[in-house]
Amino acid sequence: KFITFEGPDGAGKTTVLEMLVKDINESGIDAVFTREPGGIHIAEKIREVILNKEHTEMDSRTEALLYAAARRQHLVEKVIPSINNGKHVFCDRFIDSSLAYQGYARGIGIDEVFSINEFAINGFMPDLTLYFKIDPKTGLKRIAKNKGREINRLDLEDISFHNKVQEGYEKVISSFQERIVVINANQAIDKVLQDVKNVLKEHLHF
Ligand code: C5P
Ligand code: MG
Repeated sequence: KFITFEGPDGAGKTTVLEMLVKDINESGIDAVFTREPGGIHIAEKIREVILNKEHTEMDSRTEALLYAAARRQHLVEKVIPSINNGKHVFCDRFIDSSLAYQGYARGIGIDEVFSINEFAINGFMPDLTLYFKIDPKTGLKRIAKNKGREINRLDLEDISFHNKVQEGYEKVISSFQERIVVINANQAIDKVLQDVKNVLKEHLHF
C-alpha cells in the first residue's frame, strides 16, 4: 500500500514517521520510508530550488510545477517500483500538500493544482492518507522549539498563511474522505504515535 502523511508545518508528521520506522521494521512489514519533495536525487535537487530562502521571487505557479515535477520523478523512480516489489511505502507529504499550500493558501485554486498533478501522477493515488490535524498556532510553536529543523522559505510566512493552509487542508480532506483518516495532532507526540499505530494496524493487519 501507498500511505501518505499530510498536515500543516509542525504537526509532527516527520517525527512520528521517524518513530515508526523501528516498530514497522520489527513487525516484519516490508516498508520504505520516504518524503516529498525529495526522496531521490533529482527531487532533492528540486527541493533545494523550491525551498531556498533566497528564492523570494518564485512565482506560485512555478512553485506548483516544481512540486509536481519532483513528485513525478519520485513516483516513477522510487514509489511505484517499491509497490511493485510488494513493499508498503510511507511518504511524508504528497498531492494533498500541493492542493492545500499552492492550490488554496497561495491562491492558485485547488482544481487548477489538481489538474497539473493529475498530469504528473497519471492516476497513481495513495491508498491511505493520515491527516495530522493541528491548530496552526500549536504547529508554529512546535516548529520554534525544533532546533534540528532545516530553515526554509516558508519560515518567512506568518500565522495567516498557516491558517490558510489549514483551511485548504479542510477543503481537500472533505473531498477525499474515502482515503483519509484524521489524526488529532494537538496531542502529545507519544499519543499521536499511538493513534497512528492503531490506524495502521487496522489497515495493514499487523
Ligand atoms: O514537509 P517539510 O517540512 O519537509 O516541507 C518543507 C517545507 O515546504 C515546509 O515549510 C512546507 O510547509 C513547505 N511545502 C509547501 N508546499 C508543499 C509542500 C511543502 O509549501 N506542497
Ligand atoms: Mg516535517
